Amino acid sequence: EFYNKILELKGNIRVFCRCRPLNTEETVEGASMAIDFEAARDGELTVKSNGRPKKTFKYDAVFGPQSNQVDVFEDTAPFATSVLDGYNVCIFAYGQTGTGKTFTMEGTNEARGVNFRTLEELFHIIGERKGQFQYEISVSVLEVYNEQIRDLLVLGTQPGAAKRQMCLLEARATTSSRLEIRQVGEGIHHVPGLVEAHVNNMNEVWEVLQTGSNARAVGSTNANEHSSRSHCIHCVMVKGENLLNGECTRSKLWLVDLAGSERVAKTEVQGERLKETQNINRSLSALGDVISALATKSPHIPFRNSKLTHLLQDSLGGDSKTLMFVQISPNENDLSETLCSLNFASRVR
Ligand code: ADP
Ligand code: MG
Repeated sequence: EFYNKILELKGNIRVFCRCRPLNTEETVEGASMAIDFEAARDGELTVKSNGRPKKTFKYDAVFGPQSNQVDVFEDTAPFATSVLDGYNVCIFAYGQTGTGKTFTMEGTNEARGVNFRTLEELFHIIGERKGQFQYEISVSVLEVYNEQIRDLLVLGTQPGAAKRQMCLLEARATTSSRLEIRQVGEGIHHVPGLVEAHVNNMNEVWEVLQTGSNARAVGSTNANEHSSRSHCIHCVMVKGENLLNGECTRSKLWLVDLAGSERVAKTEVQGERLKETQNINRSLSALGDVISALATKSPHIPFRNSKLTHLLQDSLGGDSKTLMFVQISPNENDLSETLCSLNFASRVR
């Protein structure tokens, strides 16, 4: 009974904290570690300042610098099963720029992240359920930058990426890459014109992920800078049919690499950059507001306060499942941003 109570309190929102290792530069400089992972197995970490424990935080899981992509995915995999069971799922990476949001979600060729591994798990389970269930999977890749939605698969299919069009043949083409959200029914939101690339296997998934990833840099002078100022979103749409009773399900999996959460002093930025900063702050706090309103079962959920929460509206709340990775740096120099991120994560949990 006690266990049930915990589950109920926790609802459908999970928070995992992941801390990157010190990088070479920090190691050379002799940077000090501001985080203690002794109780990581119990989901706890302690923030230290000048070697003294300052504050302890508790999450559903804590991954220290020694944890690798496989360790992290072990705890993430159940969300893939949920998607095939018909639940909507949102997985976010939140944190200061440079803390490993992209590493966790996208990963590298050698150490693939949650995006690739979750799709791999979907196809693995689909294989196991063959004969009983039939599934159709399609993927959209988009970006929210300055409160505007851009289709990264459209950009990715422009000249120079001809080869990658192979698996996009079934995708619906669109003339514009400036997209809007429309409500097309009770609780159903849709982005007309967004490319949905049908994928049949992991080779096709890889092509789509690469296309989206390459397109993210298009049109920006500094790719890293741009990616830290925008939200990169993968939407995996699943149509399922139970072959035994004909029952159909439709569900969505959102994989979101959020813009950097670092606070920028208003006095330091002007013009276009100021607008960018305000849009990022607005959308990240809107996301925090929505998730904490859902966690406390508030009657009013402020979905419309940002493009991001509006876009994900159908997949946040109800019986949807949400996983938030809060990414942090171990470096004592980053302590104030780390505390902001940990507090944000505690609020949504
Ligand atoms: P963000 O997307 O939050 O700005 P990145 O994912 O780009 O941060 O990570 C910054 C750098 O740190 C990258 O070079 C990345 O490969 C590395 N990194 C991040 N997390 C880890 C980790 N857990 N293990 C090893 N390297 C990491
Ligand atoms: Mg990044």
